[in-house]
Amino acid sequence: AELYGVPYWSSGYFRVTEDGKIQVTPEPGLSATLQDVVDELVARGESLPLLLRFPQVLSGRVRQLSEAFRTAIREYGYAGSYQGVYPIKVNQRRMVVETIAEAGQTYATGLEAGSKAELALCLAQDLHPEALLCCNGFKDDGFVKLALWGRKMGKNVVITLEKLSELDRVLRVSKELGVRPAVGVRFKLHARGSGQWEESGGDQAKFGLNASELLQVVARLREEGMLDALVMLHCHIGSQITDIRRIKVAVREATQTYVNLVQGGVELKYLNVGGGLGVDYDGSKTTFYASMNYTLSEYASDVVYTIQEVCKKAEVKEPTIVSESGRALTAHHAVLVVPVIDVTGPTRQQPLTLEARPDQHQIVADLEGLLNDITLRNYREVYNDAVADKETLHNLFDLGYLSLHDRARGEAIFNSILQKVARLVQGLPYVPDELEDLPKVLADKYICNFSLFQSLPDNWAIQTLFPITPLARLNEKPTRQATLVDITCDSDGKIDKFIDLRDVKSTLLLHEPDGRPYYLGIFLMGAYQDVLGSAHNLFGRVNEAHVVALPGGKHRIELFVRGQKARKLIENMGYEEEMLRESIGQQVARAAAAGRLSPEEASELGETYSEELLGYTYLEEL
Ligand code: PLP
Repeated sequence: AELYGVPYWSSGYFRVTEDGKIQVTPEPGLSATLQDVVDELVARGESLPLLLRFPQVLSGRVRQLSEAFRTAIREYGYAGSYQGVYPIKVNQRRMVVETIAEAGQTYATGLEAGSKAELALCLAQDLHPEALLCCNGFKDDGFVKLALWGRKMGKNVVITLEKLSELDRVLRVSKELGVRPAVGVRFKLHARGSGQWEESGGDQAKFGLNASELLQVVARLREEGMLDALVMLHCHIGSQITDIRRIKVAVREATQTYVNLVQGGVELKYLNVGGGLGVDYDGSKTTFYASMNYTLSEYASDVVYTIQEVCKKAEVKEPTIVSESGRALTAHHAVLVVPVIDVTGPTRQQPLTLEARPDQHQIVADLEGLLNDITLRNYREVYNDAVADKETLHNLFDLGYLSLHDRARGEAIFNSILQKVARLVQGLPYVPDELEDLPKVLADKYICNFSLFQSLPDNWAIQTLFPITPLARLNEKPTRQATLVDITCDSDGKIDKFIDLRDVKSTLLLHEPDGRPYYLGIFLMGAYQDVLGSAHNLFGRVNEAHVVALPGGKHRIELFVRGQKARKLIENMGYEEEMLRESIGQQVARAAAAGRLSPEEASELGETYSEELLGYTYLEEL
């Protein structure tokens, strides 16, 4: 457990059992063993990769966040209340939105839509009557109309202005429809976040109004006799804010703006501090981009305290606090399970069996000499010479001066040199700079049945680190340094950066495959990954199971949602199934007429084609 950092990154939702298996533990007394869930599904004939979703974890996060604010409000004697809003862009999957909406009934948790389609989805949810429905993002007439109809339905819809020109549109459409809008303004804070999304805040941010634009909105609404429509001040300084100090500075600036507006006669009700509440992906509790130096309750306390302090000083009524946490609500609830299907790597290659030929090139003999010569005193020199000789070896081959036989011998000898050097370096207190990459060069490649681009797009695009552990054998010492590769035909489809409490590791220690299925769990991937995933190589959405943990380490699989079929992915590219079948049919008929296919073969071919069109896009018989 320590090796994979489970106690540090799991926020208490996962633990390792004495017999070395990973369990999900959504609530005290409830736990489910992930390997058991997978075994049950495999026994039913279902295929991997498989996404496990835990609705109890999701509801638990909604409760935890709202309760943290309630506690802080009680402790500080804050005069206002808190209402969370879930920005559905973080994960619009039905199970996620519906679970959050249901768990949020007690807390009047609302939703945030950033587009017309998202708003259509949000309006259909039957939320608590006071729950907010925030409309962010750039808007056209249709977006505004839909939002206003939502208000007419009795929902607490707030249209957030992202730029000044949106005000005219909102005023015009609301007059046309005869619906009084509730308006929010996204204010461009001077404060910036920390971590990967620092650019979302600050003066150059893409969204929001600056101070003078904000005053123009107030003046215009006053002119129209509609100042009471302005109910919310909104800000957002980026996702995954790693440093709590940045949050405090931003909230102070936002509250200062809020009190200025209130003192100027605007009766605002809500102060929306946006998203940004982080997830500790590596468990290091630092300001490193995969971590955060605060807890969820510290976040709530600091937001409440800062707002209260500024309001008290200005003698302004404390607002209803709104936050739009998405990542922190959803990340923990999903685990991707991928099977290791093969292992390759330099140390797995057959030992040198090729004999030296009489006309062997000198460069191969040189490498052989280096191999026989390595000692603890000279290994650095030998390593550097060997790297140079290997370079020469390949140049000679390219120019036609070296045979394929000599090249194969040379490469195998080089490989043995690396392994020998690695063994020597292992016992040393420090690794010389030029050898730092050696473990990675020598590492095994564990080939896993999944697509990085479909399931973990952020790992590929922005190097987000997700904790990865085997689901079982955690009571056995892992002996292999490994990197992971997926099954796409793309060399970027690999994972070679892993979480570590002190640094990022370039390899992950894994167990030697022993003939039984070996499953890896990729954790904390419930935020953003479902939506951003792409169909590279036409690998589609994976099978998913919704799992409920029961007392005594038991579980119930509540729902199994089959992943996308090949047909669906092909159709998404503009083809139609009929068209494909017709084209195949014609070509088969031609091949049969030419005598290349017997009638039986033609029908078997048709069946195979059909099966694959309707089949899972990942590897199945392993
Ligand atoms: N609110 C707004 C306006 C956003 O742009 C985002 C995402 O960046 C969020 C909320 C959600 O942020 P997070 O997932 O960090 O909570």
